[in-house]
Amino acid sequence: MPRPSVFVSHSQHDPRIDFFHRLFSGAPLRGDWFEFEKPKVPAWTWIRDHIHGAKAVFVILSAPMTGWSVQHTQNWVAWEAGVACAFNKPIIVLEPAAEPIAFPVPFCNRQVLYNEQDPSHFDFLRGLLADLERQWNPNVDVRPNVTCPECGLSFHQYNLPGEPFPCPCCRQEILRQ
Ligand SMILES: [Zn+2]
Repeated sequence: MPRPSVFVSHSQHDPRIDFFHRLFSGAPLRGDWFEFEKPKVPAWTWIRDHIHGAKAVFVILSAPMTGWSVQHTQNWVAWEAGVACAFNKPIIVLEPAAEPIAFPVPFCNRQVLYNEQDPSHFDFLRGLLADLERQWNPNVDVRPNVTCPECGLSFHQYNLPGEPFPCPCCRQEILRQ
């Protein structure tokens, strides 16, 4: 039995990707990174099967995902999020706190604005992986604490109260009371 995994949806040109390699290194859940696997089957079947087997999907936003020149990456990330939703997998959007990324994700269960320089954020995400590994179902146990007034998406947001943050779906700024 392979170690349980989190499927990682991202751009391979993410400048902060080392943070996530460190995060998964030695973590209770393995990160499933498509570009390191070189599957012998069509990409979509490999991705579908690995999302199906994963505990959750991380959608890691980064600047190289935006712009017209990277439609290829955008299509794959959007498709992966759709597959994860169809399999009822927890979808966790990770966005750099210092750099909002205008990349809409139509559905997610959680949004984490992270600072890769902050050790407490690393510890928080390690704790999240440990929770996912223990069969805990974040779709049930962590209720949405935000509903976007613009698009109606309900999700759980980790952020300091009083600070505005972008809705992961419609990118409208939300100020949680
Ligand atoms: Zn919204």
